[in-house]
Amino acid sequence: MVNSDIIAAIATPPGRGGIGVVRVSGGSLGSLALKITGSLPPPRQATLSKFLDEAGLVIDQGIVLYFPAPYSYTGEDVLELQGHGGPAVMNLLLSSCLSAGARLAQPGEFTLRAFLNNKLDLAQAESVADIIDASTSEAARCAMRSLQGDFSNAVRNLVEALTTLRMLVEASLDFPEEEIESAGQGDLQGRLEEIRAQVEHVLTSAMQGSLLREGVRVVLVGQPNVGKSSLLNRLTREETAIVTEIPGTTRDAIRETIEIEGVPVHVVDTAGLRDTQDAVEKIGMARTREAISKANLILLIMDSRRGITAEDRGILGELPSNLPIICVYNKIDLEPAPPHTEVPEVGSAVYVSAKTGLGVEELRKKLLGTAGWQPHASGEGIFMARQRHLYALTDAGAYLKNAASLAGQEVQLDLLAEELRLAQKSLSSITGEFSADDLLGEIFSRFCIGK
Ligand code: GDP
Repeated sequence: MVNSDIIAAIATPPGRGGIGVVRVSGGSLGSLALKITGSLPPPRQATLSKFLDEAGLVIDQGIVLYFPAPYSYTGEDVLELQGHGGPAVMNLLLSSCLSAGARLAQPGEFTLRAFLNNKLDLAQAESVADIIDASTSEAARCAMRSLQGDFSNAVRNLVEALTTLRMLVEASLDFPEEEIESAGQGDLQGRLEEIRAQVEHVLTSAMQGSLLREGVRVVLVGQPNVGKSSLLNRLTREETAIVTEIPGTTRDAIRETIEIEGVPVHVVDTAGLRDTQDAVEKIGMARTREAISKANLILLIMDSRRGITAEDRGILGELPSNLPIICVYNKIDLEPAPPHTEVPEVGSAVYVSAKTGLGVEELRKKLLGTAGWQPHASGEGIFMARQRHLYALTDAGAYLKNAASLAGQEVQLDLLAEELRLAQKSLSSITGEFSADDLLGEIFSRFCIGK
C-alpha cells in the first residue's frame, strides 16, 4: 500500500439534502475516528454515533462506517460520516476532520488512491468519473460495465495474446539454433492476424462507447426560413427556439442536448450562413462557423419545394470537406410529390416535415448511423471509452499492421519484435499496467532452455 496522509472531503453534492456524507481516507484513521466519534467504530458496521468538534462539542449525530485497510474503496482506512445534509453542518464536520489531522482531498484523490493501491486499474478508475458524468442511462450502464472490468479484461486478453507471441519471436531471436517446441512459428502470420482482428473488434466497441460518452455534435445549417428552428423544436419535442416568419431571426447559436437511442446528441441551430451587413447577425455567423468547426455532423436543411439552390451550394462550399453531411429536405407536407433535386455526391438525403413530424424518425436514425452508432441490444458489449483509449487501440493496430508486413521475412525478426513490443505498450497504457519488461521471465517460465 502506498503510504499516504489523511484526506477528507464532503462526498455528497453541495446544498441541502436528507443525508450528507463526509469521507475520510488515510494510512491509519484510529486516532482521527477517536477524536470525531469518541470511540473507534467497529469495522464495517453501521453505528449510530455523535460527531464531535475540536473542543469535544457535539456537531451532529449520524451513522459512522469504518472500513479498515485494505478492505475499502481506496485500500486504506476509510471512515464515512453520514450526517444531516445541510451545508453548515457538513462544513462543521469537515472542519472537525481537518482539525483532527486530515487535509482537504484533491478532486478524484480517493479514486487515485484506489488506483495506486491496485483496487482499480486505470480504465476502471476513469469509468468511475464516467458513471458520475453520464448524461444518458445507456452511458451510465456502459460506464458501469467498464467499472466492472469488461473493458480492462478485453484489453488484458489482447495483452496476453501479444505476450505469448512476443515470447515466441524473441525466443527465436535469442536462440536461433534451438528448436523451440510448441513455438509453431509457421502460423506467426495467422496469430498476428487474429490479434489484429481482436484489436479491431475492441476498437469498434470502444468507439461506440466513446460516442455514448462524448455524444454527437450536430449543427443545423441552411438558408433563413427553411425550418431549422422548427426542426430543432421537433427534435427536442420542446419549444426551445424562436420561430418566426422573418428571415434571420435565429441570430444566436442555440444548443440543445437530446437523447437518441441512449446516445447524447448536442444540436446547434445556427444563424444561417449568408452575406449580411447587420452587425449582430455577423456575430451570429461567426458563432455558426465556430460551431461548425467543432461539429461531427452537419444537417443542411433545405426547402423541399425549391430543392438545392445556388445559395445552398454556397453554404456547402463553406463547410469543411471531411465533415459528414445529411441533406434534409423540409416542408414535405406542402408538396407531397417526390423532391426533384437530390445531390447524392454531397451526402445522404432525408425528406421531412418539421411541422407534422413526417420523416423525422428516419432522420434520427440516419443521424446516428452517420455518426457511427450501431444499434445494439441494450448496449451489450460496448465499452465506455475515452479518446486516449481510442488512440492507444489505434496505435496498437498500426504497430500490428507493421508487424504483419514484416512477418514473412526472416531477417526482419528483430524489427517485428520491436513492433510487437510497441503494440503491447500501447495496449497496456489503457489499464495503466505497463511496467518493467518482464518478458524474459515469461520465456524462462515456459520454455526449457537449460539443456
Ligand atoms: P429557420 O429560419 O430556418 O429557423 O426557419 P423556421 O423554423 O423559423 O421556419 C420558418 C417558417 O417555416 C415558419 O413559419 C415555420 O412554421 C415554417 N415551417 C418550418 N418547417 C415547416 C414544415 O415542415 N412545413 C411547413 N408547412 N412549414 C414549416
